[in-house]
Amino acid sequence: FLNGKRALVTGSTSGIGLAIARALRAEGATLVLNGFGPGELIDELCGELGASHVDADLTSAAGAEKLMAAAGEVDVLVNNAGMQFVSPVEDFPVAKWEAIINLNLSSAFHTSRLAVPYMKQAGWGRIINVASAHSLVASPYKAAYVAAKHGIAGLTKVLALELAEAGITANCISPGYVWTPLVENQIPDTMAARGLTREQVMRDVLLAKQPTKKFVAVEEVAAMAVFLCGEAAQNINGANMSIDGGWTAE
Ligand code: NAD
Repeated sequence: FLNGKRALVTGSTSGIGLAIARALRAEGATLVLNGFGPGELIDELCGELGASHVDADLTSAAGAEKLMAAAGEVDVLVNNAGMQFVSPVEDFPVAKWEAIINLNLSSAFHTSRLAVPYMKQAGWGRIINVASAHSLVASPYKAAYVAAKHGIAGLTKVLALELAEAGITANCISPGYVWTPLVENQIPDTMAARGLTREQVMRDVLLAKQPTKKFVAVEEVAAMAVFLCGEAAQNINGANMSIDGGWTAE
């Protein structure tokens, strides 16, 4: 049902963004990819998805402007690129704070402000922000990430109100722990650091807050993004769709 629609997914060379790109492609959208990775991987993904790729670092306004200039007119904008850094607040490196706020929050402001004029002209648009359970609740040592994710939930509500009459919706998807390379790669270090088995790390450390004790699959997040693009979701606007196994119900 997305034939003829152009979709840009930031941070789509890995994890959740890649799964969203694949799912939008399966519905017929023309894809623009963004994100880092080895040249061969990016070429392979562009081939698989019939997509173009824009190499832009979204930690600066200039990077977001470069991305939007190269991407052209987009009907579906998925702001997904993000990163994490964990540290007590008094030691939190200022440069990390700035990079996370820029990437996880400000980049979505820049891509949105640049995407909206065309969406308004087209009379249709979808802005989907990949937030997090950390857009609703906090955890210690994640000052920048939690602040940025709460911020993007607020930005999403503003966009929803401003654009409601233009046929454009803006929503967040807020996953709990999702099984991605990012998460999987933490396991060996945590096993070593805490003297735990792989199963103990997964259940008692990573999934401590997720009541189902199961990771969310990237395909589940992607399915929500597809749903939000559809006709049935035209009145879902400014919402924060949790996919966290009950984490934020507590
Ligand atoms: P990932 O590390 O697998 O993918 C991140 C993507 O962003 C990659 O394509 C990477 O190249 C790109 N990227 C990183 N820095 C960038 C930059 N400066 N400019 C442009 N692109 C950049 O991570 P993921 O787990 O798929 O996370 C994707 C999003 O989902 C993030 O916003 C993250 O906060 C959110 N999220 C993840 C989880 C989880 O458990 N994995 C849970 C909740 C929310």
